[in-house]
Amino acid sequence: MKASQFFISTLKEAPADAEIVSHKLMMRAGMIKKLGAGIYSYMPMGLRVIRKVEAIVREEMNRAGAVELSMPLVQPAELWQETGRWDKMGDEMLRLKDRHERDFALQPTSEEVVTDIARTEIRSYKQLPVNFYQIQIKFRDERRPRFGIMRGREFTMKDGYSFDKDMDGLRASYQNMFDAYVRVFTRFGLNFRAVAADNGAIGGSGSHEFHVIAETGEDAIVYCPTSDYAANMEAAEALAPAGERAAPAQPLVNTPTPGCAKCEAVAELLGIPLTHTVKSIVLAKEREGAAAEIWLLMLRGDHELNEIKASKIVGEYRFATEAEIVATFGTRPGYLGPIGVKGPVRVVADRTVAQMSDFVCGANQEDHHYTGVNWGRDLPEPEVADLRNVVKGDASPDGKGVVDICRGIEVGHVFMLGARYSEAMGATYLDENGKTAPMQMGCYGIGITRILGAAIEQNYDARGIIWPTAIAPFEVVICPVGYDRSEAVRAEADKLYAALRDAGVDVIMDDRGERPGAMFADWELIGVPHRVVVGDRGLKEGKVEYQGRRDTEATQVPLAEVLATVR
Ligand code: ATP
Ligand code: MG
Ligand code: MG
Ligand code: MG
Repeated sequence: MKASQFFISTLKEAPADAEIVSHKLMMRAGMIKKLGAGIYSYMPMGLRVIRKVEAIVREEMNRAGAVELSMPLVQPAELWQETGRWDKMGDEMLRLKDRHERDFALQPTSEEVVTDIARTEIRSYKQLPVNFYQIQIKFRDERRPRFGIMRGREFTMKDGYSFDKDMDGLRASYQNMFDAYVRVFTRFGLNFRAVAADNGAIGGSGSHEFHVIAETGEDAIVYCPTSDYAANMEAAEALAPAGERAAPAQPLVNTPTPGCAKCEAVAELLGIPLTHTVKSIVLAKEREGAAAEIWLLMLRGDHELNEIKASKIVGEYRFATEAEIVATFGTRPGYLGPIGVKGPVRVVADRTVAQMSDFVCGANQEDHHYTGVNWGRDLPEPEVADLRNVVKGDASPDGKGVVDICRGIEVGHVFMLGARYSEAMGATYLDENGKTAPMQMGCYGIGITRILGAAIEQNYDARGIIWPTAIAPFEVVICPVGYDRSEAVRAEADKLYAALRDAGVDVIMDDRGERPGAMFADWELIGVPHRVVVGDRGLKEGKVEYQGRRDTEATQVPLAEVLATVR
C-alpha cells in the first residue's frame, strides 16, 4: 500500500466528547468517524484493524470446528415473541415496522434466529453437535453509548451458538469455545483474564467473561493472585458470606422526585440512576468492591437545569484523601461550588463511602446558592452498606488466599444456555433410540469493535497508539526522506517496499511528500509497530534507520537486514 493511494486523516486535537484515551486516539488517528450517538463509520485505517481482528477470530473459530453463516440484521417480531424476549428486551432492542405494519427488530443478538435454523434443519442426533457463528453488525440502543466504539449502539460482534445432544456435549462444546477464546485473546497480544460470570445455575460454571485488564474498564473483577480464582463482581458477590452480602441496589431517598423535571432531566442526561437529590446531587453508579464510585455534580450558580445542560462533565478526578481534594480544588469537598469550575465534575472515590464520609461529613452548605455535595451524611445506612461488596483482602472463595480487585473491559462472553431456547421454540432432534429431545445450547460472543478500544487502553503513549503487531493496521511503514527529490532514496525505498511486500509483510510506504516531522508524528499516532526511514545520508553506507514504536531511539540497520529486523 502506498500512502498517496490510501486515506489518511489525522487530527491534532481530539473532539471534546472523547472521554478516554482510546476514544481520543482513535478519533485523532482517523480510524472511526462519528455519525450519531454510538454510531460510527469505520474509516479505512480503522477497518484494517477490524479486519485483522476478524481474521484471527475467524481462523480460531474455524480451527475449533465452528461453521460460519450470516443471519439477518432485521428480524421478525414473531420469533422474539416465541421466547418472550420481544417484551423482555426492553428499550435496548431497536424496533421498526415495515410497510404492512409488521414488527421487526434490529438484531441485538441472534439466539432466536439461530434456534429457528436449528429446529428446521436438524432432525437427527447424527447432525449434532454443530456450532454456528457469524461476524455481524449488532444494534443495541444502549442507554449510555460512550467511549467511541467501545460502547457503541451499532457495533460488530462475533456471535456463535452451539447445539448438542446433551449436557455432556454442551460442556465439551463450551470448553472448546473457552479454549478458542484463550487462543484468540492471546494472539491479539493483550493482557486479559477469563472470569466466572455467574455462580453456575446450570451446573459447573455456566458462564465466563473475558476481560482486557484496564483502569478505564467499566467492570470490577475480583481475583486471587495466589490461585486461579477470578470472577466478575456479581458472581463474587453471590458467593460472599451471607450478612456481608450487599443488599440489592435500591433507590435512595430523594430518588428523582416524581414530576421534578430537573431531577429527571439530570438522570436522563447522564444516563445513570439519580439516587440522591438535596441541593446536592449524588449519583452512585455501580457498586464495585471497596471503591464506591460516586458522581459528584458541581453546578455553577444555582441548581438550574439550564446550567447542567449547558455544561459537560469537565474532568474526572480520583481522590483517596481529603488533602488531595483540597490540593486540587483549593477547598474542602462539599464546598466546591464557588471556586470557578465550569460545569459538573465527576469524582471517583478510591475509598468506601463510609471512609469518604469521615472527612466530608458536615460539609453541606445549605445556605449557599451553589450546589455542593456531601457524601455519607445524607446517605442512609443501608445504602452505604449497599455500596460495600466484596472488598480487597476478603478471603477467596476457593480458600487459597485473599482477593484483589482490578478493572476490566468485557471483550468476550461464553454462556451455557442449556435448553432454554430450544424448549421455548421446539428445537428438538431424534436421539439414537428414536426419542425426541431438546438440543442443549451454548452461546459465545466477542466484541470485535470493542477490542480496538480495549487494545489501545493497554497500549499507548504520549505520541499515540502502539498496536500489537497482530492487529496493527500496517506492520511496517517506510518513510523515505526526499522521495520526490532524491533518485537514490526513491529507488531504494521502492526496492525495499517491493521486497517487504514480496516477503508477505503488511507494509505501507509514505510517498505523500510530507516533511519528516509531520510524517513521523502521523505514524506514531496511528501506531504502526515498525518504522524504516530511508534517507540519502544512511544510504551512502547502505543503511536505513529503524525504530520500533516502543523504542526511544532509532538504530542504523543495513538494507539487507531490514526484513529480519521487522519480522
Ligand atoms: P456489556 O456488559 O459491556 O454491556 P454485554 O454483557 O451486554 O456487554 P454480551 O451480550 O455478552 O454483552 O455480548 C457479547 C460481547 O459483545 C460483549 O462481551 C462485548 O465485548 C460486546 N458488546 C456488547 N455490547 C457492546 C456495545 N454496546 N458496543 C460494543 N461492543 C459490545
Ligand atoms: Mg450490555
Ligand atoms: Mg456484560
Ligand atoms: Mg456479557
